[in-house]
Amino acid sequence: MSQSEIISIEPATGEEFWRGRIGDVDDVVSRARRAWPAWAAQPLATRMELVRRFANEVRKESDNLAETIARETGKPMWEARTEVETVVAKAEVSIRAFAERTAQRKLDNAIQGTMALRHKPHGVMAVLTPFNFPAHLPNAHIVPALIAGNAIVFKPSEKAPATGLLLVQCFHKAGISAAVVQVLIGGPAEGMALATHDGIDGVLFTGSAHTGIAINRKLAARPDKIVALEMGGNNPIIVWDTPKIADAAVLVIQSAFTTAGQRCTAARRLIVKDSMYDAIVTEVKALADRIIVGAPFDEPSPFMGPVIDGAAADGLTESFLYMLSNGGKAIKHLARTQGELPFLSPAIIDITGMAERPDVELFGPILQVVRVDDFDAAIAEANNTRFGLAAALVGGNPQEYNRFWANIRAGIVNWNRPTIGVSPGAPFGGIGLSGNHRPTGFYAADYCAYPVTSAEMEQPRANIGAGFREGN
Ligand code: NAD
Repeated sequence: MSQSEIISIEPATGEEFWRGRIGDVDDVVSRARRAWPAWAAQPLATRMELVRRFANEVRKESDNLAETIARETGKPMWEARTEVETVVAKAEVSIRAFAERTAQRKLDNAIQGTMALRHKPHGVMAVLTPFNFPAHLPNAHIVPALIAGNAIVFKPSEKAPATGLLLVQCFHKAGISAAVVQVLIGGPAEGMALATHDGIDGVLFTGSAHTGIAINRKLAARPDKIVALEMGGNNPIIVWDTPKIADAAVLVIQSAFTTAGQRCTAARRLIVKDSMYDAIVTEVKALADRIIVGAPFDEPSPFMGPVIDGAAADGLTESFLYMLSNGGKAIKHLARTQGELPFLSPAIIDITGMAERPDVELFGPILQVVRVDDFDAAIAEANNTRFGLAAALVGGNPQEYNRFWANIRAGIVNWNRPTIGVSPGAPFGGIGLSGNHRPTGFYAADYCAYPVTSAEMEQPRANIGAGFREGN
């Protein structure tokens, strides 16, 4: 018998948080198709005003939304609150982005008439998103897509559906029709059925490379559907010459362990200059030892919560053991701190001695360390991945940063800043297995609408040029 319900479990307690019936893909898509033309025909100013009202509804709902995020993902309450603030801020950022990226333009006004550039929405967009930012990530696709005039079918992660529902209620309370933004409750099977449905004009996906590639493969023969893929990373952070060891260690810790390492931009690999190794690794370990791991509402506040579920904790433990038994040396062991619950302590492992370093995204609190002799080796090691999302250099001089910037393959390249935490006013995306060159963030407007170029004149006016016989 096929599964008929999705059950969301609180990672920090192991208790059921929410359950609901799996939706019907055909129903939601046909409802969206019927609703879309009227939404697209609304004046842009109306759609913008409704999105602003949505931000107000989220503001009113912020305590409830933050609590739901914290309970459903296990992230600390302070972090859930910052996620809600990002959701609120997205409305204004997206309105600005629409104006800068896809607004109407008159290109010239010559004797041949006007050349106008305008953008049209694609139609009905499927939005598929992961569990780690269950409000911000869907919102980052939905808001720009709505402004552009698309209707939305949003399938939240099966691990955080309650947050998705709450988010969508805010669109409806703001006055956006329930048929224009719909939720489809479901798991991978519903995700694929939605992405490949004939009534869908585009897929806006954030999640793992594994899933993104599966969707891309299925849609390979459908160039008519726009597919925006925001996927994972195996992100490097290089620590080079710097007297500021304590600051460098904080940047490494923030990059590797915020959100229990469950961020696409989290630093997975610390690449250190040989001569800096002892000082940096000692300081990073000391700081990691001080990290409070706990439940979202604990006092004092934890720095990180559990990972999303037991399967994730088991997978990470297996990966850590695999590295240990294949040449890795533990600097700080991965421990399951609260029985069967998926609380993991931050772990650090030196993998310099591994003959074959795994190029996979370990989506949790495991930092792998590699020591190198010179700067070229550091850059080569940093690029030793099929992914290309975020990379950071800590220390070094401006010339070294220039070399790093020029040679590193990633969509986010930082200097003396963590790998995580990108400005909302910037585009966000990666190369390689991290994305398909359709960055989100400020550039999301680009994939939510297509350009239409029009040569226009109020009356027909034309002269026949060369190549005709004389007429009567
Ligand atoms: P996931 O790929 O398992 O799931 C993402 C979404 O896809 C979910 O809604 C899921 O139900 C759906 N899905 C899963 N399998 C599917 C299939 N075969 N067909 C269609 N849909 C399917 O990702 P996750 O474990 O929830 O999230 C973690 C991943 O997300 C990490 O790899 C992380 O790096 C990535 N991520 C990327 C970004 C970014 O902006 N680049 C941001 C956050 C997270």
